[in-house]
Amino acid sequence: MNYAYIMVHYGELSTKGGNKKLFINCLNRNIRHALSVDFPEAKVTSDRDHTYVEVGDYDVNDLVVRLQDVSGIQRITPVVKVEKDMKVIDETALELIKEEDGTSFKVKAKRADKQFPLDSFGIMREVSAHILRNHKLDVDLHNPEITLTVDIRDTHACISCHTYKGCGGYPLGMNGKAMMLLSGGIDSPVASYLLIRRGIKIETLHFAAPPYTSDAVIDKLTDIIKKLNVYQEDIKLNIVPFTELQLAIYEHVDEPYCITIMRRMMMRIATAVAKDHNCHGLATGESVGQVASQTLESMIAINDVTNYPIIRPLATVDKNDCIDIAKKIDTYEISIRPYEDCCTIFTPKKPKTKPRIKDCEWYESKWDWQSQVEACIKGVKSTFIKNGEIIYDGTNQEEN
Ligand code: ATP
Ligand code: MG
Repeated sequence: MNYAYIMVHYGELSTKGGNKKLFINCLNRNIRHALSVDFPEAKVTSDRDHTYVEVGDYDVNDLVVRLQDVSGIQRITPVVKVEKDMKVIDETALELIKEEDGTSFKVKAKRADKQFPLDSFGIMREVSAHILRNHKLDVDLHNPEITLTVDIRDTHACISCHTYKGCGGYPLGMNGKAMMLLSGGIDSPVASYLLIRRGIKIETLHFAAPPYTSDAVIDKLTDIIKKLNVYQEDIKLNIVPFTELQLAIYEHVDEPYCITIMRRMMMRIATAVAKDHNCHGLATGESVGQVASQTLESMIAINDVTNYPIIRPLATVDKNDCIDIAKKIDTYEISIRPYEDCCTIFTPKKPKTKPRIKDCEWYESKWDWQSQVEACIKGVKSTFIKNGEIIYDGTNQEEN
């Protein structure tokens, strides 16, 4: 028997009361986008508590795998939809469970329709008894090999032997847009993915310092963004010409403070570009303690120049766990390609781990960095990458 529908269980949406409709519409839109390339005929509908995807002629497992990348989905259950008649439910359940391998089973029942003559326990007992009478299986309530679910909805019943984990979080777009500072390393693509999963759309911003950094880094960033397109179909890459300001920093600032001042400049520029592009937060791939400049004291000095929230999704994530996620989202191999980041080229031997804001301000009083920051903001070049294709390239942003 073929599963004709996939039932999508909402993640944290269900806690959102009045906003629920908005959330469901947003999720359904994202599901349609996600399916549009490989499954253009798959119909998406919803009732009060679930979204359904019609399987049609597609492979149900392929659809499940694609849906597992859509944020805001808690669980994915391929189902057979039948009328709310216990005879039909019994027969369908028996037919489905006969197709499964395994020697033990358990029935789980739920009813949204409280008028249904049997309650959950009654449904579970009746369906279990029917299976036991007609098929050679044992009941195991604690560790069954097969779990059959019966869900009585308002207009129909859904029956299934399989359920899969979704990636959780919120539908993309529900939680605004952030400007993600993207380097060519391992961490910032992972941080990007975690933001997207939380329902936050991203634009990306990269500080390039040619000729000290090579153009190859732009190809690398483009390749990373193409991978992230699986989770957000269109992502903008903004490139800041950072060389002059960076050289000025190394001319005017003592070595231990260079990284802190550089990051303060980055945040000033990022805030201005973010405002201009309608983003309501900044984000980085920083992790507390990972390098000398990523201490809480450093973060005070860096945060001091912006009133935008700086989201650091990896703040408490171990490098190994971060690498696991990078492999899962397929950015790891791209990130480990050799490259020079503006941060690594100018890395001081002994960066200050506890920089003081007063000292930062003293260094920053030594030259007219304001006009250089202005020039960086004006010089931003934007590229738009959609579903793995570069849409426009190299010009100053026309559409934010
Ligand atoms: P990553 O692996 O993401 O490069 P990292 O561990 O190498 O991170 P740093 O190089 O210290 O750490 O950078 C910390 C964060 O600062 C990065 O995750 C990124 O968000 C931001 N960043 C660093 N360099 C750049 C850059 N050239 N352009 C934009 N953002 C940058
Ligand atoms: Mg880096």
